[in-house]
Amino acid sequence: MDHDEYTQDELLAKLTELGYDPRFQDYYRNCIPFHTYPAPGMLIAIGMVDYALELIEAKPGEKVFAVCETQKCAPDPLQIIAHCTIGNNRLKIVPIGRFAITMNRPTLGDSAEGVRVFMDPVKLAAWPTLEKWFANSPEFSKKTMAKALQDEILKSKRSILSVQKVKVPVKQKEKWRSAVCKTCGEAIPEYLIEGDHCAGCGSLRYYDLL
Ligand SMILES: [Zn+2]
Repeated sequence: MDHDEYTQDELLAKLTELGYDPRFQDYYRNCIPFHTYPAPGMLIAIGMVDYALELIEAKPGEKVFAVCETQKCAPDPLQIIAHCTIGNNRLKIVPIGRFAITMNRPTLGDSAEGVRVFMDPVKLAAWPTLEKWFANSPEFSKKTMAKALQDEILKSKRSILSVQKVKVPVKQKEKWRSAVCKTCGEAIPEYLIEGDHCAGCGSLRYYDLL
């Protein structure tokens, strides 16, 4: 490692010191190996998911939906803690680049009330290392400030977050038909066809055959 950061065990000990409950420690135990390292954004996102679940009064294991406004770090705690995964289609990632998540409970209607939890730059003033890191400032040095950053993430708890009540559109599952691409001969849902071919042979083509 080219920088000095706390290990998972050290982080867990710090959580105990700071009065986090065992459930929260389990989030760390499960998310860090999944992400493969304790990335700062991932640790912050663990707190965001915990907060959002509490706000929508969701019990562990309950079916919930999430939107993540960044591709960096935050999708992982949503998948591990809330089981909103890419594969079960309960996680939508919108590449806006804001460090924010929105969560809501299931509904039969065409919209749902939910909460949006976001990193609030205004609230970072009290946490100088966190502020520099979040702003991607040249004053932040991963080499020398990694531990200070982790300390501030743990100590700041929810004080760096803000919450908005929001309404999000809901698309109920619809029946769909299968279609066959005229170019590659593979099957796709008909609603994804582009003219007479699939997007893999069209706008989303990403490889050349060898
Ligand atoms: Zn095709």
